[in-house]
Amino acid sequence: MTKLRVYELAKELGISSKKLIETLEDLDVVVKNHMSTIDDDIAKLVTELIEEESGKSNKKKAAQASDDKKAEPADKEEKKVLTAKNEKAEDKQKTITVPSKISVKDLGALLGIEPVKIIKRLMNYGLMVNINAEIDFESAKKIANEFDVDIVEEKQDNEEFMLEEVDDPKDLKPRPPVVTVMGHVDHGKTSLLDAIRQTNVTQQEAGGITQHIGASEVEVNGKKIVFLDTPGHEAFTAMRARGAKVTDIAILVVAADDGVMPQTVEALNHAKAADIPIIVAINKIDKPNANPERIKQQLSDYGLIPEEWGGDTIFVNVSAKARIGIEQLLEMILLVAEMQELKANYNCRARGVIIEAKLDKGRGPIATVLVQRGTLKLGDGIVAGTAYGKVRALFDSHGKRIKSAGPSTPVEVLGLSEVPTAGDILLAVSSEKEAKSISDERKNLQKEPEYDTPQRISLDKLFEKM
Ligand code: GDP
Ligand code: MG
Repeated sequence: MTKLRVYELAKELGISSKKLIETLEDLDVVVKNHMSTIDDDIAKLVTELIEEESGKSNKKKAAQASDDKKAEPADKEEKKVLTAKNEKAEDKQKTITVPSKISVKDLGALLGIEPVKIIKRLMNYGLMVNINAEIDFESAKKIANEFDVDIVEEKQDNEEFMLEEVDDPKDLKPRPPVVTVMGHVDHGKTSLLDAIRQTNVTQQEAGGITQHIGASEVEVNGKKIVFLDTPGHEAFTAMRARGAKVTDIAILVVAADDGVMPQTVEALNHAKAADIPIIVAINKIDKPNANPERIKQQLSDYGLIPEEWGGDTIFVNVSAKARIGIEQLLEMILLVAEMQELKANYNCRARGVIIEAKLDKGRGPIATVLVQRGTLKLGDGIVAGTAYGKVRALFDSHGKRIKSAGPSTPVEVLGLSEVPTAGDILLAVSSEKEAKSISDERKNLQKEPEYDTPQRISLDKLFEKM
């Protein structure tokens, strides 16, 4: 493949080499001189930028105008984006309402930041995107925060929530905490979950292998704790985007021999953004070079200050491998959960979140659902995204057939017409017929071309799967 030189590309674009080099510098791409070669993807990106700039200079003006906090849309198209909500942003100064999915271009216009700067930041995260690429809210928020602007998600008229009644306080009863484990790759998230499960395997179960459904329940001192296998950040982003909060407590795993790493920081930022309490599990303390004090020091810089230093973050030293500190960690989870006074209505139509879903050859679509509210029962009409049906069978996290599942219960559900998407809300409705009509409506909505989104990216892709 032949690479273009700076002067060649500049000529193609009808600009000076100097201007091209400057634009490249904006993207943090350093080139020596007009004879330097440019990678293809960079060339593509910079071409789009230049064309955008020259072709529609009026749009650039709009971006600059909003810089002065006088956002005056330059054309009709942008007027749509700069909705009335943003006028509010002006009085509130630096909080701006944005749609849950937004293109780099529109985000630039809303924030009054040149799109090139946004693209540059995204590149710092390893994301190569063009100006029209849609980014999710989490990513947009991150970028906005880097420019000292806070953004909030535009509230959607959410069918799921319109179908829901309000709870009478007397119907609210305590429910178990739902916990996710987060942290940098290889710091021991999977091992810790395994250790927690095995510490809790009862004598009878020890022989048989427990069926794996993407979530587990353990019992400590007669109290239940639910662990999601979904990495915490995914649970936060995918599910929060749909307005559902799935996690009550985040366990931040940090390897004592490694220290705070980029994904550790990402994870704790996610948890903070979601306003979820964090318990730090300093893992691998069995290692000779383990240095838990150093971890505490490092995390203090991020506002996670141990209790013994006058802060309010719980730190527990553990070894997933040597099974040290696991019981203590579980007790701390219960302690934090108690302070949260978690409650839910057990006596209403069920609502849950799809944690995992797959197609089973013999049994059809199977979804693992975390019931969050109400009680899901055999025979209930259900809808999740465009999947609908009737609860044909329910299995608990140990693979045991059950008849109903209340709040904070992970449960396998059989009976959906198709495989739903993780993060979708599952709703119990009055009948299978109602479920079908909701599904039909949603299918019709999806057909509208407006939803024909181009390229979507998410910071999630930067994280490894557990
Ligand atoms: P994850 O990427 O965060 O899920 O990390 P894993 O659970 O896959 O663990 C990464 C590596 O660290 C594996 O080789 C584990 O055996 C090892 N590991 C996990 N926990 C411990 C521990 O407590 N002590 C030691 N010495 N090694 C551990
Ligand atoms: Mg893992």
